[in-house]
Amino acid sequence: MTDLIHVDHVTKVFRRGSEVVHALEDIDLQLEGGEIAALVGPSGSGKTTLLYLLSGWETADTGRVHWNVAGGDPADAPWGRLALVPQSLGLAEELTVRENVELPLRLKGELDAGSARVTELMSRLDLEALADRYPLETSLGEQQRVAVARALVLSPDLLLADEPTSHQDDSRAAAVFALIGELAGAGSCCVVATHDRDIARYVDRVIEMRDGRIDEARRGQAARGDRALWGPPPS
Ligand code: ADP
Ligand code: MG
Repeated sequence: MTDLIHVDHVTKVFRRGSEVVHALEDIDLQLEGGEIAALVGPSGSGKTTLLYLLSGWETADTGRVHWNVAGGDPADAPWGRLALVPQSLGLAEELTVRENVELPLRLKGELDAGSARVTELMSRLDLEALADRYPLETSLGEQQRVAVARALVLSPDLLLADEPTSHQDDSRAAAVFALIGELAGAGSCCVVATHDRDIARYVDRVIEMRDGRIDEARRGQAARGDRALWGPPPS
């Protein structure tokens, strides 16, 4: 696999009045298709900022994020190659649960072709009974699984998920990671930010973040997760 993303000496500073926050300092990182990487670190360590840079939502102050697409910029990626599960979920309140999951398909003009995938994701994420409800009529955990389903429906080449299991019990978290594992198995790159060290068992690689830096001592020492631990998804 060739690199999907190359983060080259990236720095990001936030300024509010006299306050200066060095959110990311000299980040160097390569991400490949077919791998699940966890961004692990305490609150405020820069995980969300790095995900937003990888998505093209934020731009670096210095350094560059190279995306392996024509043009080299995530903004040039064809629709559906990149999907984000934001921490704030970002569901459309005026659409039902099923319509939220379908939205990327609708925007891509592939609603009919993707309907079996929608049904599969809703079943695997235990959302079937909620299909016709609006997000505000569901729990936060359910809304989070809707955001996960919406991100997976087009099987993106790059999945960026910000604490996607923070409101899930163990079995639902396992269902989320089973789907992420299948996406990676099909060649996509999945980056999951989390402060939950237990997540390490689901991933190929743990990237430690602290104070806006990737922990030097651990850089390059991929913690290989044992995917056999969670096995095939329930049929
Ligand atoms: P994490 O996701 O690991 O909790 P973040 O990437 O959200 O960390 O934040 C990293 C640092 O940058 C924190 O100190 C946070 O307060 C700061 N920060 C994030 N976004 C902004 C912003 N828009 N303006 C000012 N500071 C910010
Ligand atoms: Mg965060």
